[in-house]
Amino acid sequence: MDDPNTASKPETLVACPVCDLVLRVSAPDKGQWVRCPRCRHPLVRPPEDRHLTPALAVAALVMLAVALSFPYIEFQRSGIGESMTVLDAATKLAAFHHPELGLLVFGTIVVLPALYLLAVLWIEFSLGRRPRLAGTRTLIRALHYCKPWMMADVFAIAALVSLVKIIGMAEVFLKPGFWTFAGFALLLLMVVQRVNPLVMWARLEGPPQAPPALRPGLSARLQHYQGCEQCSQLQPIEHQHCDRCSARLHSRHPDSIQRTLAYLVAATIACFPAHLYPIMVTTSLGNTQPATIISGVLQFIAHGDWPIALVIFTASVVVPFGKILALSWLCLASRREKPLDMPAQMALYRFTEWIGRWSMIDVFVVAIVVALVRLGNLMSIDPGPGGMAFAAVVILTMLAAHSFDPRLIWDQQQRRTDDYDALERRA
Ligand SMILES: [Zn+2]
Ligand SMILES: [Zn+2]
Repeated sequence: MDDPNTASKPETLVACPVCDLVLRVSAPDKGQWVRCPRCRHPLVRPPEDRHLTPALAVAALVMLAVALSFPYIEFQRSGIGESMTVLDAATKLAAFHHPELGLLVFGTIVVLPALYLLAVLWIEFSLGRRPRLAGTRTLIRALHYCKPWMMADVFAIAALVSLVKIIGMAEVFLKPGFWTFAGFALLLLMVVQRVNPLVMWARLEGPPQAPPALRPGLSARLQHYQGCEQCSQLQPIEHQHCDRCSARLHSRHPDSIQRTLAYLVAATIACFPAHLYPIMVTTSLGNTQPATIISGVLQFIAHGDWPIALVIFTASVVVPFGKILALSWLCLASRREKPLDMPAQMALYRFTEWIGRWSMIDVFVVAIVVALVRLGNLMSIDPGPGGMAFAAVVILTMLAAHSFDPRLIWDQQQRRTDDYDALERRA
């Protein structure tokens, strides 16, 4: 596809990274997405004001800096007050013998988002000048890997869940750090939504070149070609690296099914300690009360907080188990001879990929309450061993979804899809 802001709209051939269909695409009109007609994967977003993305990224970084310098939530009980900052959520976990969990929290809510925003600024600045800045190509490739691991929005929602959890124990006040962090999470979402590596590659390298012999409407692999997952350029199946963006090429992810199943088995094993060991331990006036994920949900129900109980139960129990089942089923389905309901399989794959990171909500709730509720003997909450095991379940299921190659779902489809024009008409 061509630079979306130019007037001429030459067509070019690319391979859909999700279903491997060779497609004819041109720059979209304003307000219109270019989607794959077969799997509906959004390929190119509509053209828009290019200066807005760096402006949003700068605003997000400023918001993050402010959020880190002010208290996040304050907690008062019997005249004793305690407040926490966003950084406390990570450092207190580290102080209580969970340095890896602290690192995970800090990395996913602060470090990765900040690096992502800086990379976007670097790339946007580089694309507007000649010669380009060093590292631009590496950074565009890195954005793709960074995206699923940024969880600032999950942390912001976890803060609200934590409030409900502790509001019965004491008075809770939302401080400026809370509002600015929520603003940062929102701006980050807007930047992520606007960043499209395909458009970045088009601005950097011009439109992708495709061999004229290729036919749209057939899978690239059937024609002994492969599409680059980063920039969609088509090239012969024997090429190891993309001619255009230098990314590693795989016609299909190597050992996709085996790797996915291995991650799923590991995640299933980690589910046992995650649910059997306490995720947090509350000490109040000498009484020690350990709480597992399930007993935490039951506590919310006992207090009548049904909506929060439902959120935690869904995020911590339904989603991880559902994801393990759904991905196992997709692995089996991609080996079947007879084609199954393709739209349903794609919907299931997209949903499992999207929902996975939201399971981190309970880990973040633990990080927040551990940092906040520190009133010595009067009341304090410590992290339990279940937290790390549960974080492992979330990470392993995310890695499983990442290892699974959705193009395998389409391989068992009929060798030749419908007439390409019919597909385009349906789009
Ligand atoms: Zn597709
Ligand atoms: Zn490429």
